[in-house]
Amino acid sequence: MRTFWCVLLMTTISMAAQEQKAPAAPTATVIRAGTLIDGKSSQPRRDQVIVVRGNRIESVSDAATAKTPAGAVLIDLSKATVLPGLIDSHTHIFLQGEDPAQGGYDANILTAPLALRAARATVAVRRALEQGFTTLRDVETEGAGYGDVGIKEAIEGGYIPGPRLFVATRAISTTGGYPLEGYAPELEMPKGAQIVDGPVEARKAAREQLDHGADWIKVYMTHRSWVGKTGELVSQPTLTVEELRAVVDEAHGWGKKVACHAYGGIGLHRALDGGCDSIEHGLDLDDAAIAQMLKQGTWYVPTLSVYYTDWGPADTPGGQRDRLRAAVHDPSFRKALKAGVKIVFGTDMGGIPWSEPIAQEFSRMVEFGMSPMDAIQSATSRAAVMLDMEGKIGAIAPGAYADIIAVGADPLRDIKALESVQFVMKDGKVFRSN
Ligand SMILES: [Zn+2]
Repeated sequence: MRTFWCVLLMTTISMAAQEQKAPAAPTATVIRAGTLIDGKSSQPRRDQVIVVRGNRIESVSDAATAKTPAGAVLIDLSKATVLPGLIDSHTHIFLQGEDPAQGGYDANILTAPLALRAARATVAVRRALEQGFTTLRDVETEGAGYGDVGIKEAIEGGYIPGPRLFVATRAISTTGGYPLEGYAPELEMPKGAQIVDGPVEARKAAREQLDHGADWIKVYMTHRSWVGKTGELVSQPTLTVEELRAVVDEAHGWGKKVACHAYGGIGLHRALDGGCDSIEHGLDLDDAAIAQMLKQGTWYVPTLSVYYTDWGPADTPGGQRDRLRAAVHDPSFRKALKAGVKIVFGTDMGGIPWSEPIAQEFSRMVEFGMSPMDAIQSATSRAAVMLDMEGKIGAIAPGAYADIIAVGADPLRDIKALESVQFVMKDGKVFRSN
């Protein structure tokens, strides 16, 4: 034992010696920003200079007074608006907006080899990065097990390009609470989420997922939805409060958070009573739910855009349900915004094909009353706080990771400008420049 400590001590001393004579800091990169939206400030700033060294932002200052480090690489974005890399807090890299005509969701699980799904996920993460999304919270793999942990490792290992990933692995729902469904009851069908019944199974599933690399736990608190007797949106609840509490208690013990898919009604209220950290979708928020979200500091990731696509025919129960979902979402979002609920940008990409612009969600948020700056902060500094990464991502400030993007037009005048990203730097490395 004494020998071990002795070796450890010598190693420490020699490391300290190495640090003293370490070579000079890595070459700096200097970015000249015509307009800077830093992710935190309420106003943009003109003519700024950002100094990047290694994978971090070293300084941000006025161009008039900035000191450029000798030998720095210069990047001229003086005609562009520069922002922090964007964060989408609700994606599914293992979905591709499956076309019902090609078998839809079920065929993906039943016929696609896992390697094919991983290959498609590789394309999805590259698409996200190309569009300036340098961080994703990916909220479950839809039957692809722990594939998201593998994709994250591939990105971090430098094998493939992609955003920083926060992954939720398999997700949790109950019997009767997730596809595949509608098959002969004699058949044991695979499910797109881990199915649990009872608090013991719920806690065990959370432990397994956390053990295998989940950064977040995703729980489905509602499943089927339909138009009720008085024209209201009804959502089938899944986990009980006791089951959810077991998951939340376990996740919080590991220092992790729980994201809850919940449309409204009983399931949404169970989600809040059970201590969910974020409500996903929240289509139908009543006043009591909003009050409880404010009291508990619950995050709201509304994912508006996805409910405006793929509506069934208007004369079918499914089609009427699809229209009602979008109709109740708009006032829920406006009420939450007015009340000061912490709203975070999320899209449900994967539910939407990855060929579509991720930033389309900004337009919906602005259409429903959010200011462009607030919408940008929902995808930068506010999302960073939710992800326990405040000051590290979602901000252009000294000490933050150098995740930096630029657009040609002013997104505060036209939020659609964020759909045309022309420069992407992640972790100090330029990924895209055109
Ligand atoms: Zn989703």
